[in-house]
Amino acid sequence: MTDSIEELRRLDKAHLWHPFTQMQDWCASDEDPLIIASGKGAILTDVEGNEYLDGNSSIWTNLHGHQHPVIDAAIRKQLDQIAHCSALGFSNEPAIRLADKLVKLFPAETLTRVFFSDDGSTAIECACKMAVQYRQLVGEERPNFVAFGGAYHGDTMGAASLGGIGVFFERFGSNGYPVRHMENMDALELMEADESRSVNAVIIEPAIQGAGGMRVWPEGMLRRLRDWCDRNGAFLILDEVMTGFGRTGRLFACEHEDVVPDFLCLAKGLTGGYMPLAATLTTEKVYEAFLGEYEEMKTFFYGHSYCANPLGCAAALGNLEVFEYEQVIESLPPKIDAMREALAAIQNPHWGEIRQVGLLAGVDLADARGEKALDWRNENGAKVCRAARRYGLLTRPVRDTLTLVPPLCVSVEQIHSSVEALDRATRDVLG
Ligand SMILES: *Cc1c(COP(=O)(O)O)cnc(C)c1O
Repeated sequence: MTDSIEELRRLDKAHLWHPFTQMQDWCASDEDPLIIASGKGAILTDVEGNEYLDGNSSIWTNLHGHQHPVIDAAIRKQLDQIAHCSALGFSNEPAIRLADKLVKLFPAETLTRVFFSDDGSTAIECACKMAVQYRQLVGEERPNFVAFGGAYHGDTMGAASLGGIGVFFERFGSNGYPVRHMENMDALELMEADESRSVNAVIIEPAIQGAGGMRVWPEGMLRRLRDWCDRNGAFLILDEVMTGFGRTGRLFACEHEDVVPDFLCLAKGLTGGYMPLAATLTTEKVYEAFLGEYEEMKTFFYGHSYCANPLGCAAALGNLEVFEYEQVIESLPPKIDAMREALAAIQNPHWGEIRQVGLLAGVDLADARGEKALDWRNENGAKVCRAARRYGLLTRPVRDTLTLVPPLCVSVEQIHSSVEALDRATRDVLG
């Protein structure tokens, strides 16, 4: 066994190129790579048999735990029928049923159309392309997008250009959508009338920005943004790729402020964290603009090979079933409170600001008085998360912000032990 683990590690370093990873460091380190062999509930097990709490829900995807019997069964049942068939020219039952279920999660006659794709990034691309083509079809001159500083909307070229985190888009900036970045609602409300009328759509991660470092928006902000969009005739695109499916304590973050967007982008948790599947929901108004005779060329010429993949859609149906069956949303308040109390109880000199919405939390590492930020080049966030493995926790930082995003099925006890793990790991690294 040890031999084969060594062999796997050698082959990984020989051929894999990992996402968001400095491969020089990856290949130099002698413990890495940590190879995950299995998962059950909120626990991941590596090839050596060590167990860890899945402290970032396998990059914000998993909801009800690994090997959940309902989702496993839904996928197996579908596998006995067909794994994939094209949605270009054909349909399939799981996709049809899933679209119907998704639409019914929103107020009647609001988001009535569902376009399936593969990932968060493609859900965003799809919304943006629909918005651009819509303006062309109805003859409106609105070339610009508005996004927010610190935003993250994915890594494909268009989605990346909307992002407000320099390292992800600066290199490719000139290739994307024309976008103005705003720091907050005050800045947006100061925009000149002429410019406001040039805005096609505003895109935002509602309630909290994830990859920006778990940055929390002020209460009421989303309502204000919806009003601004309505006053100025701009679309509102909500990126609920991270916040969707219960992470903020409601099924969708937009429910906290009774806002319905013109486009809603879902991915990560859509399948309970099982399969790559995404959905872009939009309104009948948008959809109808694309209708016409074929030769009018109004068709939305967009799609991917695996759009509406039946296995993914079956997993997503299983996911929604679990929400209903296990009353998942109703189970969250005590867990959210436990996380808030556990984080607040830690007296760590190197913990600066702590931010939390639902079961999404970020802890800024800071100097010995918990005040000034650390030098990001020292990668302290990564070092702390690595040290946390010793205490049975796997998670990733956003630079020097530690993040804790457990699956919704996490127990109060597991929340306590994961907060403790982060505290101890911080002491190990920073003293
Ligand atoms: C992860 C994420 C994306 C991109 O999703 P992928 O599936 O990684 O392409 C987009 N927006 C937000 C808010 C995300 O957290």
